[in-house]
Amino acid sequence: RAAAPRGSWSSESSGSSGCWEPQYRVVLLGDPGVGKTSLANAFAGLQERDLLEQHGEVAYERTLSVDGEETTLLVIDAWEPERRGEESWHRSHCLQVGNAYVIVYSITDHGSFESAAELRIQLRSMRQAEDIPIILVGNKSDLVRCREVSVEEARACAMMFDCKFIETSAALQHNVAELFEGVVRQLRLRLEGKEP
Ligand code: GDP
Repeated sequence: RAAAPRGSWSSESSGSSGCWEPQYRVVLLGDPGVGKTSLANAFAGLQERDLLEQHGEVAYERTLSVDGEETTLLVIDAWEPERRGEESWHRSHCLQVGNAYVIVYSITDHGSFESAAELRIQLRSMRQAEDIPIILVGNKSDLVRCREVSVEEARACAMMFDCKFIETSAALQHNVAELFEGVVRQLRLRLEGKEP
């Protein structure tokens, strides 16, 4: 079943479904072209046919069963590149609303990896006091011959930045389910940590 597209994702409401299960906002960050929309679509289980009909949606809601428990994720694909000299309310809003972040780069583009590190720093400065799950994602792992970022380099970066790391291929649907299941587990770990 394909996920439901969600037009309004920035409100504080916990979803229109009226379900009791917890819902979390997961914001995708990263340079243009790294595969954020492709990952969001793979998460949502959309086929090309659906994409034509639902073009322009920026948030997808789906309930995942992880370790025998259900959790609803609202995956938000609304990140925009910085425009020169522009103070963007939209960008800072994106950095504020997430319960978890997926920072995507392409393994074929070292520049996008450097941007991912910058995004991690921005996120840390905006959400200083909070311990939010952040996953560094090296997408396009199928393009092995064009690799510019090694797994070792990315792992070291993730360790330095205190985030999880996974390589995915949205094109081949490789590790996409694992990525979002990992997000759910990270969110649950934080919740458990807060319980008295
Ligand atoms: P966004 O700008 O970050 O949302 O990136 P898109 O999802 O629009 O993807 C940009 C381009 O990269 C598109 O042509 C996608 O088909 C392609 N792409 C995305 N993910 C992958 C992947 O895992 N492997 C390959 N080979 N191409 C991909």
